Amino acid sequence: MPELEVLRERLGPLLSGREVAAVEVSPRHGFMLRVTPDDLTGALTGRPIDGMWRRGKFLVLDSGGNHLVINPMLGGRLQYAPAGERVAAATVFRLQLEGGDDLRFLDTVRMGRVYLAAAGGLDSVPGWSELGPEAVDISAADFATRIRRHRGELKSVLRNQSFVAGIGNAYSDEILHDAGMLPLRKRTTLDAAGVETLQASTRSVLTGAVAAIAAQPGWVAHKQDRSFMRVHGRGGEACPRCGHRISELTAQQRVTSFCRGCQT
Ligand SMILES: [Zn+2]
Repeated sequence: MPELEVLRERLGPLLSGREVAAVEVSPRHGFMLRVTPDDLTGALTGRPIDGMWRRGKFLVLDSGGNHLVINPMLGGRLQYAPAGERVAAATVFRLQLEGGDDLRFLDTVRMGRVYLAAAGGLDSVPGWSELGPEAVDISAADFATRIRRHRGELKSVLRNQSFVAGIGNAYSDEILHDAGMLPLRKRTTLDAAGVETLQASTRSVLTGAVAAIAAQPGWVAHKQDRSFMRVHGRGGEACPRCGHRISELTAQQRVTSFCRGCQT
């Protein structure tokens, strides 16, 4: 969520009101779109972009009543570039904007998901209708009520988009480190104070990350710099809170990082 939130803040104003002069879909990578190149081109060409917004881990571009819905997953990136700039090999599609700039979608690992939904049709996007409240906005009371339905490991609960929307693999590690809770700990072991701590950490980690990303002096839309993270991806390093060596587990190609010294 934090990366997408900064993208929305920065790119939204650049895109709003701009007409899409042409759409180009890569013949090599276009297969990964959940929309045909013809439908994408037909829906967007010659129309202005009305705005950009975010819901959970989806970024949405509105145009002429249609919604272009992008879930970048691990490797998807949006690039805003002058039309003449070299097109990167990983570019999946580019929207050529009137006035000479491009919005490009790149994906080095081809896991990203791009959908086109008609007006009122966002529920056709897989997972959309099940999205819970935004993780960063939910009240402590609502968080406490909703989490009762989820009995599994804390990391899985946080990443469950139907519980709260917007938390992925990396941020679940950061939140649990902040809360001092082990990722595989069962939700059922948390008392009321523990649930409160988890909600507070959820909010502070996500808002802190948005601020950290927005403050990066070298920020560009398509580069991701997560050097502000305290535990995720730092296996083997010293924990910034207690100095203990950070542990790392890999399951289903996802890294989980945590500290046995200060997470219980
Ligand atoms: Zn620690």
